[in-house]
Amino acid sequence: MTIPFFDGHNDTLLRLLDHPRIDKLDLFIKGSQEGHLDLPRARQAGMVGGFFAIFPPPLKTTPAAIAAAPDYTRGNLPPELAQSNALQSTNAMAALLLQLERAKVLNICRSAAEIRSTIKSSRLAALFHIEGAEAIDTDFRTFEVLYAAGLRSIGITWSRANAFGTGVPFRFPADPDIGPGLTDAGRQLVRLCDERGVLVDLSHLNAAGFRDVAAISTKPLVATHSNVHAVCPSTRNLLDWQLSAIRESKGVVGLNYATGFLRPDGRFDADTPLELMVRHVDALVEAVGEDGVALGSDFDGAMIPVEIGDVTGVPKLLQALLDKGYGEPLVRKIALENWLGVIERTIG
Ligand code: ZN
Repeated sequence: MTIPFFDGHNDTLLRLLDHPRIDKLDLFIKGSQEGHLDLPRARQAGMVGGFFAIFPPPLKTTPAAIAAAPDYTRGNLPPELAQSNALQSTNAMAALLLQLERAKVLNICRSAAEIRSTIKSSRLAALFHIEGAEAIDTDFRTFEVLYAAGLRSIGITWSRANAFGTGVPFRFPADPDIGPGLTDAGRQLVRLCDERGVLVDLSHLNAAGFRDVAAISTKPLVATHSNVHAVCPSTRNLLDWQLSAIRESKGVVGLNYATGFLRPDGRFDADTPLELMVRHVDALVEAVGEDGVALGSDFDGAMIPVEIGDVTGVPKLLQALLDKGYGEPLVRKIALENWLGVIERTIG
């Protein structure tokens, strides 16, 4: 039995962009054994779609290298990125996503209904997401252009500051309550997202920014790829009050597979047991309820447990939940239906 799943976060577009091969589309369509995610492996695993993140990298490097870089893991915020620089890489990754759609590999979905109909087709259902709003100017002109191209999910910040807010540095053990809240432009951006049906992603945002979004937004609160601070006290994970706010808003948390955000010792170590992922799911179900837990792998952006390996390992996680006594209906919710539900409540 293959349980279909939708994933809350991958950095595959950046992996393709950074890859030295010229035929970047083929790298995804025909697949390879590199990285975590491509079409053949997604199909094999039962992945029906997910948030495809566009992450403007600080330098010529990959998110995995950044997360592992001692400078950042020692707790310094990576430097801010100029809008022109972010826009350039955003255009390059958006072009790849649009080309994958043109190649009939995926649909860039603009609603939960479009995701549902795409799932019945032979294509992947992609949600166009930007991880950090650096590419967007404070007059929101780029917002209009990206929205027209299908953008429906915005992480206000990555782990750095920008014109809209401040992200958390990668610190362990530490609290995400570091730095100031949203700027005026950040508040405007949240209102605009609410108005236009764009999901606001809270993963990477600091606690003050989280509080601001919770106060401004009328939509469910969503953290696409974060875990439970009480289990792994990383700045990237959610405190009890944040989980309660997400529950109250009928929001969702996507389980992040990055070992440094799973392990109680905060180490990035591939030798991390599946059991620890199950422990975070247990804690998430407890904190946000059965409708509030989903998957948010961080494929192609993080060091993940060797037992998962790549997207083809996800069925092992779903099986581990079944083995733990989770009923099949609940596992199907965590795998797919909870994302569809919250996308419907935020985007339409
Ligand atoms: Zn991330």
